[in-house]
Amino acid sequence: MSAPAGSREDQLVGALATVRERIARACAQAGRPVDAVTLIVVTKTHPAQDVRILAGLGVTDVGENRDQEASAKHEACPDLPLRWHFVGQLQTNKARSVARYADVVHSVDRERLATALSRGAVAGGRTLRALVQVALDGSPGTIGPRGGAHPADVPSVAAAVVAAEGLVLGGVMAVAPPGLDPAGTERAFASLMDVAGRLRRDHPDATDVSAGMSGDLEAAVRAGATHVRVGTAVLGSRPDLQ
Ligand SMILES: *Cc1c(COP(=O)(O)O)cnc(C)c1O
Repeated sequence: MSAPAGSREDQLVGALATVRERIARACAQAGRPVDAVTLIVVTKTHPAQDVRILAGLGVTDVGENRDQEASAKHEACPDLPLRWHFVGQLQTNKARSVARYADVVHSVDRERLATALSRGAVAGGRTLRALVQVALDGSPGTIGPRGGAHPADVPSVAAAVVAAEGLVLGGVMAVAPPGLDPAGTERAFASLMDVAGRLRRDHPDATDVSAGMSGDLEAAVRAGATHVRVGTAVLGSRPDLQ
């Protein structure tokens, strides 16, 4: 028999404080200022009411990975001053919808998707920040198992983003391949930083590096991530639909 749980807000206050401490500690270890890292709370599968509570607690950035859910949640929160990040694999036929509400799309991994997002952005009179998703475990010319362009294909996807009206190239994003030991995770993030550095040579303003989730945010921050995408560690576990 467990004690009655506190309110949802109490839970989120505690979990958010813990995650912010983890980020601050990793920044300190890396000699980086804590404001070098933006926390994106990934709210997928959790209700719009949680988004509302988070906004009240100072969260400025939320992430979603499915168009239908994201679109409904965004519509339920028109009054909240949030940046909406789309972090999931994206079918071209959903791009127009995502372009209506997303401020940042982290999962641009092919030229056709850049074109489709551009069309949606122009139609809606909006500008989207687009990150090129990098697959750290794929092969050239193919999309990785969790989405993402092979590092060799990043320059052409980036060029397509730059050429696309209504899109601004923000940088790169990656999900660490599952099942890596800590050294493997470190190597994966190091190779992402490599790709990010090469991209910045051609596109100096493309400074975003979106990497790190609940389980590996410290490694990502130590490597140089500018954006971490954290779901479970803030909101608790979700039904395993993803
Ligand atoms: C769900 C998701 C996250 C958050 O994962 P957690 O392990 O719950 O922190 C981050 N990035 C992407 C792309 C996701 O789909």
